[in-house]
Amino acid sequence: ESSILEQIKETITEKSVELLHLQFVDLEGILKHVTVTTVQLEDVVEGKMMFDGSSITGFSPINQSDLYLQPDLHTFAVLPWTVEEGYSEARFLCSVKNPDGSLFKGDTRNVLKKTMERAADHGYTISVGPELEFFLFKTDEDGYPTRELGDRAGYFEPSPHDLGERVRLEIYRALKAMGFTIEASHHEVAEGQHEINFKYADALTAADLATTYKWVVKTVAKKFGLHATFMPKPAFGINGSGMHVNMSFFEGSQNAFYDSSDELELSEKAYQFIAGVLENVKSFAAVTNPLVNSYKRLVPGYEAPCYLAWSASNRSALIRIPAKRGLATRVELRCPDPSSNPYLTFAVIAAAGLDGIEKRLEVPAPVNEDIFHMTDDRRAELGIENLPGSLKEAIVELEASEFGAKALGEHVYSEYVSLKTAEWDRYRTAVHSWEIENYQAKF
Ligand code: GLU
Ligand code: MG
Ligand code: MG
Repeated sequence: ESSILEQIKETITEKSVELLHLQFVDLEGILKHVTVTTVQLEDVVEGKMMFDGSSITGFSPINQSDLYLQPDLHTFAVLPWTVEEGYSEARFLCSVKNPDGSLFKGDTRNVLKKTMERAADHGYTISVGPELEFFLFKTDEDGYPTRELGDRAGYFEPSPHDLGERVRLEIYRALKAMGFTIEASHHEVAEGQHEINFKYADALTAADLATTYKWVVKTVAKKFGLHATFMPKPAFGINGSGMHVNMSFFEGSQNAFYDSSDELELSEKAYQFIAGVLENVKSFAAVTNPLVNSYKRLVPGYEAPCYLAWSASNRSALIRIPAKRGLATRVELRCPDPSSNPYLTFAVIAAAGLDGIEKRLEVPAPVNEDIFHMTDDRRAELGIENLPGSLKEAIVELEASEFGAKALGEHVYSEYVSLKTAEWDRYRTAVHSWEIENYQAKF
């Protein structure tokens, strides 16, 4: 750690870093930060920066509100868009600590660390590659998002149709400068929809990267007069945005999901992992798909899953096993969306997989038919269940499960359930434009 600190100090001098943003996420995964000057670096590194936890969603009550930020030195990055002659800014992602120095249980980054420890007890490290899709919308003169999409292009279309190509190039440059290994970038299926992919990493790093990615995408888009949104279904009738999560467990340098002797070249652990995810997905959907709007994406016909099945290749299934084997063997879960908190999303998926391994769960048969176009009878015959159809159903499932509190820890679990229950209640009692359009004139 001391040599990392030396490198950070060198970079601070070299790049004339003046301001340091100390970043962390709230219960919903929304990025927060407080800004200090580099003069305070020593205190910052020792975790002496205090803040008011009672003003952060899902954190602490007003009477125990003092919390501290402990920067993770590996997350130091100069912000490329701030660099000018003789001046720049940098950031750290932080964990949150109690005044006595212990890890604060309401910090979702700490929840994921706990899950990684549980995996480590089995000898596993968790490897994660998330794929975050987003939309670009035009903004008004005040910079607020309008309903007008950034372009009319479709899947893999190049410029001049793809008006987002230039923005994606600038996002790519910024991410690369911040240490991302970018693998691909493309226009997605829906108009105005894009995706930039980065290389997989250990679960905590991957969640840090996902958090940073969302911030960078929004920040760079804004410079082009565009609003980037990770809202899962911003428009009716076109694809929504997913955050597919590719996950595998490693034992040392070996991929524990790979077995060359199996028909699909998957190990027994991989099958148990899949079984565990299928077993628990209804309970954790409120985490991976956290918004009222999330469930408007999970409908048939838009490449987003709605039925509980797995397959080696089927994009209509909830779980797909991408073709790569050997070290790249992995399970792709297709329901999560990018509005979810990546720390919690990766934690619940890994916890579900670990459950499957611990209980040696049996995986159901794979489903290789197109499930979107199956009759209800055929689905019933195959025993294919549905994902929760609304945030309300998902909350009920989460509350009824033993899985939730175990995977999230008591603090986060109870804060999360009350946050989401209140959100559903606001939605339930609001009068929406659909109701006005359909009822006001007619009745
Ligand atoms: N946009 C689709 C979704 O909502 C995913 C498309 C893809 O396979 O990349 O999940
Ligand atoms: Mg995609
Ligand atoms: Mg994918």
